[in-house]
Amino acid sequence: MTARRKRHLLDLDFWVASMRKSLEERAGRRRWRSFIRRVLARVGDGDALPLEHDPSALRCLWRLGLASIGAAAQKEVASLVRRASEASASPPVEVTLLVRCFASGCYGFLDKGVCSDTPECTSCPFALFCRYASARGSPELPPSESFSARLALGALGALGVPELLALIISGGRSEMKAFRTAEKLLSKAASLRSLATWTVKEFESVGGVTHEAALRLRSALDLAVYWAVEPRPPGARFSQARDFVKYYGPRLRDLQAEYFIVALLDNKNRLVGEVVTGGGGLSGATVDPKVVLKRAVRDAAAHVAFLHNHPSGDPTPSPEDLDITARLVQVCALAGVRVIDHVIIGGDAYTSMSESGYI
Ligand code: SF4
Repeated sequence: MTARRKRHLLDLDFWVASMRKSLEERAGRRRWRSFIRRVLARVGDGDALPLEHDPSALRCLWRLGLASIGAAAQKEVASLVRRASEASASPPVEVTLLVRCFASGCYGFLDKGVCSDTPECTSCPFALFCRYASARGSPELPPSESFSARLALGALGALGVPELLALIISGGRSEMKAFRTAEKLLSKAASLRSLATWTVKEFESVGGVTHEAALRLRSALDLAVYWAVEPRPPGARFSQARDFVKYYGPRLRDLQAEYFIVALLDNKNRLVGEVVTGGGGLSGATVDPKVVLKRAVRDAAAHVAFLHNHPSGDPTPSPEDLDITARLVQVCALAGVRVIDHVIIGGDAYTSMSESGYI
């Protein structure tokens, strides 16, 4: 029996009851029931939580063959909720809530759903009916269900993280083979954020990733960093440490070696240039006060700010950090350049030496 045929056997009563059971097991039966009671008391028994605009829910329905991705989804989902509600004698709002929580968790209640970006197919009651789960073991997806075909439909969230990585790795060749490689990458890195710090060599060290695929992965992830950097309108000023963190944080926070950035500013604290050094420890060898001074003079900078990252994630300044900062402040003062801050970024946290009174 093919995966397509099996999907047609998914009974809506079984579907609703199994989602409920799964979520009760995940959240705890009493907790889940009291959650549902609270929601029902708030919204009544109407269909107050439409699924059509929830990309994760739509993706889960698509995986189960219960809805398509694209323009037809809206009608299909409305009718599906109505039929499932009748078949299971559950209010439509409970059906929609079950789908949402099953697909992506419930904000503030359940962190992660079963059928999320990284679906837990081995503990899913629908694995037998699911085109995604059956595709995992098959050599290739049918063309109409390929990752590229789904992406081309332009629906937000049509593909999850492993599927998007697979498209980048495959370079137009076997998507399912690339999908298995993408899963390997994600499980080795433990998260997308950690994968984003990998070098081309690290990508290549995983079986199935060619040099070309490693370059594509690195450039896609670098693009994401540029996208995440808050664009600064021309003439915008850096008036506090938080401004530096917003601009430089995405570039520095996940790096696995220490990097040091000198932001060269005019007398109104507008960026006029930048010096980036690093890849090693923070020492006189990587931050040469003479180089900083030379660039400050060349770019006619009146002020400078320093930023560097702590790969450990702890932004507390080390004695070495305090020492190099004091030397930089001294050297810059000789040339009339004012050091306005030295910001240390450790993961999502930071320390501003100016705000902490070190400068
Ligand atoms: S088998 Fe996996 S992909 Fe399919 S519905 Fe279940 S969790 Fe989602």
